Amino acid sequence: MKKLFIIIIMMSVISCTKKIKVDSLVINGNIYTVNKNFDKAEAFAINDGKIIAVGKTSKIKATYNATNIINAKGKTIVPGLIDAHCHFFGLGLQQQKVDLTETKSFDEVIQKIIDFQKEKNTSFITGRGWDQNDWKLKEFPTKEKLDKLFPKTPVAVTRIDGHALLANQAAIDLARVTTNTKFSGGEILQENGRLTGIFIDNPMDLIYAIIPKPTKKTQIKALQDAQKIGFSYGLTTVDDAGLSRETIELIDSLQQSGTLKMRMYAMVTNTPNDVDYFLKKGIVKTDRLNVRSIKVYADGALGSRGATLKKPYSDKNNHYGALLSSIEDFKAIAQKIANSNYQMNTHAIGDSANYVMLKTYKEALKGKKDRRWRIEHAQIIDPQDFHYFNNILPSIQPTHATSDMYWAEDRLGKKRMKGAYAYKDLLNEYGKVALGTDFPIEKVSPFLTFYAAVARKDVKGYPENGFQMENALTRKETLKGMTIWAAFSNFEENEKGSIEKGKFADFVVLDKNIMEIKASEIPTIKVLATYINGERVK
Ligand SMILES: [Zn+2]
Repeated sequence: MKKLFIIIIMMSVISCTKKIKVDSLVINGNIYTVNKNFDKAEAFAINDGKIIAVGKTSKIKATYNATNIINAKGKTIVPGLIDAHCHFFGLGLQQQKVDLTETKSFDEVIQKIIDFQKEKNTSFITGRGWDQNDWKLKEFPTKEKLDKLFPKTPVAVTRIDGHALLANQAAIDLARVTTNTKFSGGEILQENGRLTGIFIDNPMDLIYAIIPKPTKKTQIKALQDAQKIGFSYGLTTVDDAGLSRETIELIDSLQQSGTLKMRMYAMVTNTPNDVDYFLKKGIVKTDRLNVRSIKVYADGALGSRGATLKKPYSDKNNHYGALLSSIEDFKAIAQKIANSNYQMNTHAIGDSANYVMLKTYKEALKGKKDRRWRIEHAQIIDPQDFHYFNNILPSIQPTHATSDMYWAEDRLGKKRMKGAYAYKDLLNEYGKVALGTDFPIEKVSPFLTFYAAVARKDVKGYPENGFQMENALTRKETLKGMTIWAAFSNFEENEKGSIEKGKFADFVVLDKNIMEIKASEIPTIKVLATYINGERVK
């Protein structure tokens, strides 16, 4: 007993005089740890880029010593945010192109292209972001004005969803496309026997093939621009839904040299050479990069009627949309991936595309649990197909619901809307959802995603009572979907997604308490600071 007493005294003497030296302490925070019990905390200690202890400010201060003290002064801290489906490199490249988002008319599109060209004087004008659904005249534009303004300079501008583009004659000539050009899947629109300039889905590749590749310098600039935007919104990991081997290797080298700090989950684009290369090489994993998934496209988008439906579109006679490959091809790639340790992540929007892929997955996986194969978007599900999601992970983007809600019912009719953007139903099947934005198709801000998930409203506060509120997520579910569940969808739940001992010190300080403020204030939340690996990057 005496011995024990002495030991206790000695221990307390040591703890009073000899605190453990670490790199940084975060104190006085309103911290949502997103651990298993969704516990809150006040402080944590960071060493070597990792969280080494979490608890009360008094306890952390009593145990650890650091020269770098981050006093959160009561502000809310959440784990570093993960965007489980975005186009990060695309966002960066977009900064090098004419931005046509939120244009209110085709004339405004034209004006922006003129202004852009005056400034940049490029040999091939590219841009993205127009959406005829936002215009008074809700029809696809045609190329005449562009032909007159730019008779010799090729122009190709992509619709907001990336599933349609408008090209001028100079671009069409360069691509050697005529009214007789053959293609499969998608459409090249004609009017009175002449091309209108609109390309939908697969034939867009005919135009993409002639767009000069961005130089290496431009690519690096693109990644850095995208990173800056990401950090400003508290993103510390991005899942890029479709990258080539070349881009992945560039990202790896920039991360190794410290030029790029964003952590990336890279889905490999489904091109035979790159897929074979990575499946043979196996999983590529560093602290900042994880390559272990293949991105496949099953169909197009609903806005451009490229999504594949079981029954015809409600607003286009006898039109179903088309699968982008044959079912045999989908089965073959699924089998190939199933034989490796890679994950398969398939873009599926329409109820038919979802059904085909869910069945294909089920057959290829043969009941194997924990392969975490994902359906990206899972947008329109036939109510009788939801059960497939008990072993398939839904990767969903809540702002798609609030962007599409204005016209989705035109395309689908009332009955099919029940299984559309049905995030709660999906969550109930799998028990988790991975949340993302699909930027740059949607805005980058994860707070708009949060708001769309919980309030089912857009930034205008529409609709007043929320869109199909039975499919709203709770704040807790939403925060998990942007952190620990997104990490799970990347097989990274043991290294990130929560503020817990042993995990990367990736975290975000917010100006408002996202879990408690009025829902209408959520879109106005500002990121005060973003930390990655214990390093402040915003
Ligand atoms: Zn996408």
